[in-house]
Amino acid sequence: MRTLLILGAGTAGTLMAHKLRAALAPTAWRILIIDQDDDHIYQPGLLFIPFGLDRAADDRRSRRALLPEGVELNLDGVVALDTDKRQVRTRAGELLPYDVLILATGTQVEPGLTEGLTGEGWGQTASDFYTMAGSERLRGMLAGLRGGRLVVNIAELPIKCPVAALEFALLADAHLRADGRRAGVEIVYVTPLSGAFTKPVASRLLGELLERRQIRVVPDFSLAKVDGQRRQIHSWGGAKEDYDLLVSVPLHYGAGFLRGHPIADDAGFVHIDKHTLEVKGQERVFALGDGTDAPTSKAGAVAHFQGEVLFENVLRAIEGLPALPAFDGHANCFIESGDGKAMLLDFNYETEPLPGRFPLPGIGPFTLLEESEVNHWGKRAFRWIYWNLLLRGKELPLDHRMLMAGKRSA
Ligand SMILES: Cc1cc2nc3c(=O)[nH]c(=O)nc-3n(C[C@H](O)[C@H](O)[C@H](O)COP(=O)(O)OP(=O)(O)OC[C@H]3O[C@@H](n4cnc5c(N)ncnc54)[C@H](O)[C@@H]3O)c2cc1C
Repeated sequence: MRTLLILGAGTAGTLMAHKLRAALAPTAWRILIIDQDDDHIYQPGLLFIPFGLDRAADDRRSRRALLPEGVELNLDGVVALDTDKRQVRTRAGELLPYDVLILATGTQVEPGLTEGLTGEGWGQTASDFYTMAGSERLRGMLAGLRGGRLVVNIAELPIKCPVAALEFALLADAHLRADGRRAGVEIVYVTPLSGAFTKPVASRLLGELLERRQIRVVPDFSLAKVDGQRRQIHSWGGAKEDYDLLVSVPLHYGAGFLRGHPIADDAGFVHIDKHTLEVKGQERVFALGDGTDAPTSKAGAVAHFQGEVLFENVLRAIEGLPALPAFDGHANCFIESGDGKAMLLDFNYETEPLPGRFPLPGIGPFTLLEESEVNHWGKRAFRWIYWNLLLRGKELPLDHRMLMAGKRSA
């Protein structure tokens, strides 16, 4: 009996467990998946909780209940990976060997690693929304905001769901307008990027949208420290911004056991071949999802597209065949913009987001780089798709490659 070991039972790990359990004979392959708790969070829902648009109970499930029969779950957490001996060590001290390894440990926020961020005012005048605790806390903080400056800040890149901070600013505008508080609140979007987004066309269009909504963009601001007493954020370049409420997207890191590991960078993001998803310098070791250094968005949709390519490549590795360089960086992200509307971006390593229709050329129903109600309903339907189809490794009517049909130049 050989062992296929998956580290991380989040989006990517769970969908790979489903796909591979259905394909590998249980008499020949044991599939073991390791996580550190039994709490699977639907992370896109964290954006909506502060505005009372999602309830925590809808966005949380037991990991165990999401896994298929015939997959063993260990919740001890991994503390070390020895790629020479091909084994991992858990927090309980157990050594677990593998024949094939899939790394899917994602990324986590580390607010404590920015000077002052979790000091005075954390939880009262400053919070993240990238954790369930932070998101639930922000609901009360936002309800109590009577006026002043609401600053939405990305500490540094990379972050998961790079548009979530923008969405927060847009939803805050709509939310405060709806209950008559907007006139007294200045919304400021402070980002390390030189504009609203990484890619030029989307950045211009999103910048214009923010301007129309009277959300001021402060670009090129890399967060150095927070002064919670004075309610100020400071950049490495010496700039500062005052806040009454700080909504922070803190620094992101890979899993603790990967930080500084030879297969990863200092922040713990695993070096992979961005087309095959093989871990560089390793045999029959793969990685997907937020925990890699692939230059695409860290998004659940990306984990899904990567999952299709990785499924083939794991089976090929087991048969002794070389991996196919089939992943093109395909990402798509809905951008919730408030008032029951959303935008959609579709791009890959080579092609930036372009206007047009998706997924059916000329028909849609989704509109690319343009707000529409149908996009909003697409974003809201994603939770059902996530729990019932995506996590279960089911086929979705979307090509894992980005297609140019239906797109036009901007
Ligand atoms: C606010 C917010 C909004 C988002 N909105 C969207 C959206 O609209 N659309 C979209 O596509 N994506 C969105 N995302 C991103 C999406 O949730 C992630 O990209 C996706 O979950 C990545 O999957 P993953 O499996 O790589 O990581 P995760 O799902 O985070 O799973 C990683 C797992 O590894 C486990 N782990 C970590 N360290 C260890 C260890 N040492 N031992 C064992 N296990 C470990 C963790 O506990 C976790 O379960 C959003 C994210 C956030 C935070």
